[in-house]
Amino acid sequence: MKYVSTRSKTKPISSAEAILQGLAADGGLFVPEKIPKVTLDEIGALVDKTYEQRAAWLLGKYLTDYTPEELGECTELAYNWFDVPNRVPVMILIQDPDDPVAPVGSMELWHGPTSAFKDIALQMLPRLMSLALKKVGETKTILILVATSGDTGKAALAGFADVPQTKVMVFYPDGGVSKIQRLQMVTQRGDNVNVTAVRGNFDDAQTGVKKIFGDKVINYELDKLGVKLSSANSINWGRLVPQIAYYFSGYVEMIQAKQIKLGDKIHISVPTGNFGNILAAYYALKMGLPVSKLICASNINNVLTEFFVFGTYNRNRDFFRTITPSMDILISSNLERLLYHESGGDCKQVSRYMKDLAERGKYKIEHKLKERLDKIFIAEYITEDETKLFIKRVYDSFKYLMDTHTAVSVAALSKYRGRTNDFTPVLSASTASPYKFTGAVLEALEQSTDGVDDLAQLEQLNTLTGVRIPRNLAELSSAKILHTDVCNPEEMASRVLAFAEG
Ligand SMILES: *Cc1c(COP(=O)(O)O)cnc(C)c1O
Repeated sequence: MKYVSTRSKTKPISSAEAILQGLAADGGLFVPEKIPKVTLDEIGALVDKTYEQRAAWLLGKYLTDYTPEELGECTELAYNWFDVPNRVPVMILIQDPDDPVAPVGSMELWHGPTSAFKDIALQMLPRLMSLALKKVGETKTILILVATSGDTGKAALAGFADVPQTKVMVFYPDGGVSKIQRLQMVTQRGDNVNVTAVRGNFDDAQTGVKKIFGDKVINYELDKLGVKLSSANSINWGRLVPQIAYYFSGYVEMIQAKQIKLGDKIHISVPTGNFGNILAAYYALKMGLPVSKLICASNINNVLTEFFVFGTYNRNRDFFRTITPSMDILISSNLERLLYHESGGDCKQVSRYMKDLAERGKYKIEHKLKERLDKIFIAEYITEDETKLFIKRVYDSFKYLMDTHTAVSVAALSKYRGRTNDFTPVLSASTASPYKFTGAVLEALEQSTDGVDDLAQLEQLNTLTGVRIPRNLAELSSAKILHTDVCNPEEMASRVLAFAEG
């Protein structure tokens, strides 16, 4: 399996090269030359397998320059410390309160070390990168630089900690992240990790990191130290491919729970931001997983809902901060891969759209392409009040506690069912533990959080619902603080050099 760019006819490269390069030289994203097909028999054979084995099987379809042994070891190391034995459980708890018949499986993607779904990819990417370095004969150490507004920083730290030939350095705005988010980062163990607070806001940290990436002098100094900078960006193919696996696993879990039979079609509903998670579901569908529709669930930053309804992507609009911050995005980068595949690999067209987006902030897709997308995608958006209402409604009806992002997915599905009377079984992506967004969840359950700090809110929600607090969050109040560095934005580069040297 080789990889090409979405924007021009480039020389096909191996998956190891695509993972190390991240972005193609022409600014495009790497995509597989052909999407591999699987049979129903192969899917049926996954029933008796562990999550790690299912994931290794899926990775093998795309990462053909990795051996099955390597992939088996990667999935073991990545997932064996998830806090439930089956890693990505599917709860057949939610049934639409208005329709007690049609099953909905809530696929819990958040049992990893940071309690959010990005762990599934960020636990795998560092291991794939480390092996890729060997495969292409790179002897330098890769230094991953991250500026974070909270969640990505911890997921990257947990993923790269103690992975050979890599280092990871995270800058966060001093005073600009929640108490829990800060504690998660500053208690991170590992010999190859650094966490530094920047005096300023998130933009200051991000601008600082971008400057370092573009600074020739610093990169030259780093080169002399045997270090090369890289990022753990969500458009890296190595972050996307581990996500395809859980849709197969989720389907098989629905079979095991006797909600569907092998070959039955399901819909998949996904709370969407950068379009990575739902794109993974699209790849699963194209590979042959029996899926009929993909429900793209958005919050009030509904640029994607508009895109799927009208065929026009327009980022020139107001931006809202919501209770689903991981979906507060106006440019969904991974959409580019969908446009590439559904236009039959028309690089010229994709480039034109992306140029329009960069220059005018919008683009309109051709009628034929729009028709193709209509066959696959349903788009719905959910308001803040609806999100909270659904958390309460599902909790009251089924004692199932959802985080805000998960609630957007379930609410979107309910809207769709109400509109169409289509009661096909659904697999709905649950992307974060309710304890990751405790304040909003408590509010949805009509609890007052006045004067209660982050950590005390964990206890408050636990007392109210009896739902277990994830281990990594429960241990935070007693974990040892290991990182106390603070710097000014103009000192970031020298801190990077010092860390690279050490
Ligand atoms: C990142 C994230 C999303 C959005 O996923 P995309 O792949 O960016 O579409 C949804 N929910 C949570 C909790 C997230 O962290």
